[in-house]
Parts: sequence; structure tokens; C-alpha cells
Amino acid sequence: MRPYRFCPDDGAALEEVDGEGGSRCPSCGRSWYRNPAPTVGAAIVKGGRALIAERARQPKRGRYDVPGGFIDTDEHPVEGLKREVREELALEIEVSVEDCVSMVPHRYGDDGVAVLALGFKAQLVGAGEPRPADDVASVRWVATDELDAVDFAWPHDRELVRRALKDAAAGG
Ligand SMILES: [Zn+2]
Repeated sequence: MRPYRFCPDDGAALEEVDGEGGSRCPSCGRSWYRNPAPTVGAAIVKGGRALIAERARQPKRGRYDVPGGFIDTDEHPVEGLKREVREELALEIEVSVEDCVSMVPHRYGDDGVAVLALGFKAQLVGAGEPRPADDVASVRWVATDELDAVDFAWPHDRELVRRALKDAAAGG
């Protein structure tokens, strides 16, 4: 990925990239790195099916992913995941650190932002029905034998859903 050219803090032109991938700012002395941004996603399973969402926005509009998104600064990934699911679908989920079954580095969007996608299996709290927000075009519940036919935006979401359904079928 292209290194930073200007200091994100004070706008000074940065020096050449050093051996560790950082670019030093001659003004404030800090070194800047292009580290991946963590994202969180949930495969919410109920009755042998998992909830997937059709993306209403770019990138990958019209294709499917799992509910989730970027976490906020200082936010715990599990809390970030619960927040994203609440915002996108008005659903409460039960999920913990132990439910993280997938960690995939990938690139997001046309400019190739580096992302570390953390995938969780999750369960609904109560009997809520999903009420999609603006960034979700539609939702559907899918079974394992339907997964290969779904147009997932990212292959790792298909594998996350497959794993979550398999574990649920095994009682886990
Ligand atoms: Zn600086």
C-alpha cells in the first residue's frame, strides 16, 4: 500500500519510508504507519439459518455480507459488533470473545484500505425481527446448502457463515 506522504497531524511532508514501513515527520517527529483497521462481522444463527444482508452502499453495493463494520477508537470489538448490529438491523445479539472464529486480512473498497476482518458467530437475544437501516437493502436467512449460490461481497463472509452454521448444527 502507498505510504503516507503528509503528516496526518500537522500536514508536513514526510520523509522517505524507513526500514520498518514508517514515514517520519520532520515537524513533529512522529512516525506514521499504514496499519490495518479492524472490522467486526457477525454470523447470526437461528434455527439452522444465518442472517445475511444485501449492501445498499458502495463498495460492493447489491452483494451480500454479514452485519458489522469498523470499530470506533477505544471500543472493544465485541461492543463494536453489538453496536453495529443494533444500528444496522435494530437487533440485540449475544456474542463474546470466544465466538471469534475468523481473522482475515483483506482490502476494502476501490482505494484498497487495509482491513483486518474479525468474524464472530452470534445468537439473537429475544425474538426480534430485523429492521434494516439505510445501509442495508434487504436481509435474508440462509441455510448451508444455499451458501454457494449467494453473491457474497467477500469470500471470507461465506466461510464465516458456513463455520457458524456447522458449529450450531454440532451444538456449539
Ligand atoms: Zn507531524
